[in-house]
Amino acid sequence: MRDLVRYDTIVVGGGPAGATAAMALAKAGAKVLLLERRRLPRYKACGGCLSRRVERLLPFDLGELNEESITNLTFTWRGRNPVEATFSEPVAYMVWRDTFDQALCGRAVDAGAELQDGQAVRSVKESANGVEVDLGGRTEIADFVIGADGACGVVARDLFPDRAQPMAVGLDAEIPLTSAGEAALRGRVIIDVGRTPGGYCWAFPKRGVASVGVSIDRRSAKRALPCLTAFLSAGGFSNGKAVRTTGAMIPVYHDGTGPIHRGRALLTGDAACLVDPFLGEGIYYAIQSGQLAARAIVRAGSDGGDLQWYQAAISTEITPALEAAGRLSRAAHRLPWLWFQVLRRRRGVIDLYRKVLIGEESYESFEDQVWAGTPRSIVMLFDLLAGRGGFSGRRQELGSW
Ligand SMILES: Cc1cc2nc3c(=O)[nH]c(=O)nc-3n(C[C@H](O)[C@H](O)[C@H](O)COP(=O)(O)OP(=O)(O)OC[C@H]3O[C@@H](n4cnc5c(N)ncnc54)[C@H](O)[C@@H]3O)c2cc1C
Repeated sequence: MRDLVRYDTIVVGGGPAGATAAMALAKAGAKVLLLERRRLPRYKACGGCLSRRVERLLPFDLGELNEESITNLTFTWRGRNPVEATFSEPVAYMVWRDTFDQALCGRAVDAGAELQDGQAVRSVKESANGVEVDLGGRTEIADFVIGADGACGVVARDLFPDRAQPMAVGLDAEIPLTSAGEAALRGRVIIDVGRTPGGYCWAFPKRGVASVGVSIDRRSAKRALPCLTAFLSAGGFSNGKAVRTTGAMIPVYHDGTGPIHRGRALLTGDAACLVDPFLGEGIYYAIQSGQLAARAIVRAGSDGGDLQWYQAAISTEITPALEAAGRLSRAAHRLPWLWFQVLRRRRGVIDLYRKVLIGEESYESFEDQVWAGTPRSIVMLFDLLAGRGGFSGRRQELGSW
């Protein structure tokens, strides 16, 4: 019979949030068990686009994991009328999630975490004894648990039943490129707006393959595939052929997503709905929240067990950006044509995207600057028709086109 092992922390989920949290905790000397439902490397529906500012968080160079460095942002309206900007330095990198996540888990193991993949957690409960994690046939016990098990995880289900449901869905597909297609997409990200309620279609290059997809408001989920199909044929990606897609929830941040700390449990990444509602970026915030969760647990170890610090840290370090992204997404996704006109007429706005992606500007300052240079009448239209919100609190001088 196996001796009962008690862990300091059990991390449920071996994606970016869980692997990062496990790595940071193990580095701090904690006894950590990282549980991943699937065998690694595992597929994850994702565009795999990492904003360059992720370099600040990652404790290693991406190296060979980087499939492509992005130096061009191209926006299209229903596949046409491209508005683009090319930069001298990369603004983002492209990874395959199977190898990227496996590398992160490998770092956690190198730091001393125990990884068990192919182990699905069935349920989690808090008891006087700590946190009990049921793996179907055996139970593991720890002082703390981190829910890093994605958009529909069991930790949130069992310990945070009042959490909000994910608000958006995404479809993802991989399409081999011809050499002409590869040359056309090299270093370029295409964001297509105008046909996708609450989201957009994208094409990301990865060494001869286009990673294409769509994010869309959950209430319009039935339109996801037709939107993606139209985008692919307009962009000449699919030649009308059917494409195999994989779907997943995208738990974009919104007001009232609910608590992310309770008792001995913390939620991170997608489990905490920390996806940027404007760009759909989630990997960065998964890594950041994983690191903050680890810090909270290390602090709690010496502070008598209170994890409250985590909620406060997320509120100051992540939530303001996601709230600003939420206001921008209301403008851009509810009035996409007007937003596209802003992009066309004010080329400086694409440079603001660059500055956010490389971490030179915050979303809050993106928001201030984009409205500062936009005519008052247009800003009022956004306010009235898109419920853009937040404008009166962040009033700026308004420019003219
Ligand atoms: C179509 C699509 C495209 C996207 N594109 C991008 C993009 O280009 N850039 C970007 O930054 N973000 C993108 N995102 C968002 C991004 O994928 C997520 O925000 C990110 O993966 C969150 O990381 P995570 O570690 O929180 O969760 P996940 O990556 O979902 O990892 C959770 C892990 O937990 C495991 N798990 C689940 N349940 C259990 C269980 N019961 N027991 C054990 N393990 C379990 C899962 O197998 C998984 O490995 C996209 C999302 C979608 C759906």
